[in-house]
Amino acid sequence: MLLCPVRNCHLALVREARRLVCPRGHSFDVARHGYINLLQPQERSSRQPGDTEAALASRRRLHQRGITAPLLEAIADVLGAKPADVILDAGCGDGFYLGSIVGQTGCAGHGVDISTAAIDAAAKRYPACEWVVANADRFVPYADRSFSAVISITARMNAGEFRRVLRDNGRLLVAIPAPDDLIELRGRGRDRTARTLETFWGHFQLAGRRPASTRAHLDAAAVQDVLNSMYRPLRRQPPQAAEVTFSLDLLLFCPVKPA
Ligand SMILES: [Zn+2]
Repeated sequence: MLLCPVRNCHLALVREARRLVCPRGHSFDVARHGYINLLQPQERSSRQPGDTEAALASRRRLHQRGITAPLLEAIADVLGAKPADVILDAGCGDGFYLGSIVGQTGCAGHGVDISTAAIDAAAKRYPACEWVVANADRFVPYADRSFSAVISITARMNAGEFRRVLRDNGRLLVAIPAPDDLIELRGRGRDRTARTLETFWGHFQLAGRRPASTRAHLDAAAVQDVLNSMYRPLRRQPPQAAEVTFSLDLLLFCPVKPA
C-alpha cells in the first residue's frame, strides 16, 4: 500500500525486516519504534521540519489535561468510524486524534507527518497504527483508493492527493481553527472556511459542517503550553491564568465522482 516517495518513481514499496525497498532500489528505514521514515536526504537535512520537541510536549500536556477531549469527541462523532474503516490522518502530529479514534473503534489507522519527533512520539504511544514520516504536501505515499476516510486536523491540505488516495465512496474530514479559537490569546481571529472550500473545489463537495468548541480555565503553565503549541503566537507578555476558548470548524466532504 505504501509507495516510493522518490519523484518520478512512486512504485510500490516491499517490506523487509528493517526497511522498505522499491523495485528501483530506493530504500527506507523502519525505525526502532516501528515507524517508517520516507523523508529523502534533501528533506532530512532541512532543520527540524514540522513541530519542535517543545511544541510537542506542550500539546501533549494539553491533551493529558483533557482540555481537547470535547474536540476529539466531536471529530469522532462527525467521522463516525466503523471497525472496517481504513483512515489516513494527514499531518497527524503526535497522533492524539487518530490514535484515540483507532483505540475507540478498532479501525485501521495510518498517520503521516513531516516531523520525525512527532511520528516517533505517535509510534511509541499508539502502536496499533502505522506511522510514516513523509512530506505529504508533495506526495501522499499510498496507492490510489487506499482509504475509506482521510482526516486533516488543523493541518496542511493537499486536495488532489487526498482525492487520489480516497475511495470513491469515502469521506474527508477537515478541521480548521474557528474564528474564536484561542481568541483570548490571539486577540483576533479569522474565518478560514471560504478559503478551505476553495482549496477542495473540483475534488470534493461539502457534505456537512459543524462547530466544535470548548472553554477551559487554564493556569499560567497551561497558557504557556498553548502559546508554545501555536505556530505564530501574537502576544508577548508573560502568560497568566485565563479562560481560553478552543474552537474548530469541522467540514465533512464527499469526493466528486471521477468523470
Ligand atoms: Zn523508488
